[in-house]
Amino acid sequence: MKETDGTVEPAEAGQAMNSIEEDGLAMKLVAAILASKLVDIKPQFDFTTELGFVYPVVEQTLNVKGKEAVAILESLADKGILKRSFFDKLLRCPRCQSINLRPSTHCPKCGSGNIVRGRILEHPACGYVGVEDEFTSAGRYVCPRCKMDLRTIGVDYQSRGVLRKCRDCGEVFNTSVLKWRCLKCSSLADEDKIDELNIYAYSLDETKRNWLEFELQPKVQFVDLLRRHGYEVTENARLTGRSGAEHCIDILATRDDGVATHSIAIGVEIAREKVGLDRILDFDVKAYDSGIHDKILIIIPGLSKEAEKFASYQKIKVLKLEDLNALPTGGAQTGREVVKEPFEFESKSQLIQYLKKQGYKVKENAKVKGRSGAAHNIDVLATRDEGIIIHRIAIAIEAAEKPLGLDRVFEFDDRAYDAGIMDKVLIAVPGLTGEAGQFAERQGIRVFEVEQLEPEPPEEGSPES
Ligand SMILES: [Zn+2]
Ligand SMILES: [Zn+2]
Ligand SMILES: [Zn+2]
Repeated sequence: MKETDGTVEPAEAGQAMNSIEEDGLAMKLVAAILASKLVDIKPQFDFTTELGFVYPVVEQTLNVKGKEAVAILESLADKGILKRSFFDKLLRCPRCQSINLRPSTHCPKCGSGNIVRGRILEHPACGYVGVEDEFTSAGRYVCPRCKMDLRTIGVDYQSRGVLRKCRDCGEVFNTSVLKWRCLKCSSLADEDKIDELNIYAYSLDETKRNWLEFELQPKVQFVDLLRRHGYEVTENARLTGRSGAEHCIDILATRDDGVATHSIAIGVEIAREKVGLDRILDFDVKAYDSGIHDKILIIIPGLSKEAEKFASYQKIKVLKLEDLNALPTGGAQTGREVVKEPFEFESKSQLIQYLKKQGYKVKENAKVKGRSGAAHNIDVLATRDEGIIIHRIAIAIEAAEKPLGLDRVFEFDDRAYDAGIMDKVLIAVPGLTGEAGQFAERQGIRVFEVEQLEPEPPEEGSPES
């Protein structure tokens, strides 16, 4: 078992959990423990079984037998989820592993089991030593060797107290040697050759409760929800940030709907007490360096006041356990039903059609008030509310006689930034200059270069093209 200092590193915790998820039975057991259906898991002796003990609650809960139940408990203890406490020790035959052993006592000199216990008398005249029974004959003591009558203790004979005597070699001794006879294979083993098996009672490591409660249900449902929205989900995703540093994002959800690639960095912070500012800051820096602006933090049990303020300021969506539980589960396949088709359009109306098919609400010539107080005009503002997060895409349609220069791209980027819209799409007719293209890439603007757009059929009130 690995020694840890008691803190769960997210990556380590994640790995442990992945293997629990693979093992449905272990997961089921943990769920039962969390639901307090099982408090202490104690063994019961049962010498009719091969192991000699059973865990009845585990066997009943999981419908498994003997060794399988022990293997599940041990794997959870190895992962630090359950704590072992010593319950008892079982002896096993070193030859056949049977626990059906019987102790037997032996002569320390010749090893014979033919020993007798009793009051030991000695006849000093002839030197004979034996148990009292050997000396009695018709109510008096007679030395069995020399047949002399022994009348007075301390004179004719002496008593050495209650001891043992070997009937095979005559050795008199105080302590016999303990050996174990296997009732299955009949072999006799010395005490120090016997296999010892510790058996344990198990209980939940309470410091892991919050983490487990999240991992076992809300997390599975949350990941499921993301997948239903069409996201590809990677747990413990490794990303290299702009700074060159490698980051691990607890859950990374990515979806490319043709118009924009949406990436959500999801951090998971679970503590016994409130989560502090440092953890939130870490996460924010990681997401920023990885170029991800949609940020969700799952916080259990809650945030400190200052951390809460910071999260809201940095536009980090905070989900607590109760929020996760309130998210829709199962049901409609909202994301997967969206038709995946190439993003192709020949006119603005086709573009809008496409967006609507992808589940966006579309507003043309949208007025958005920026942080600076200025009102910005966004050619097409596409909004998609996924419940967990709202995606807003600013789409600019810029047309000119020749490729658009840096100034046009810069101006759009600036407007979107001030409006607080991070997903930016630029439709450039007939294209961009090299310099403008590079700038767009660096600023995370997705560019579609089109030769020309079909003119819109003359409809009501479309003042500018
Ligand atoms: Zn004698
Ligand atoms: Zn002996
Ligand atoms: Zn045996």
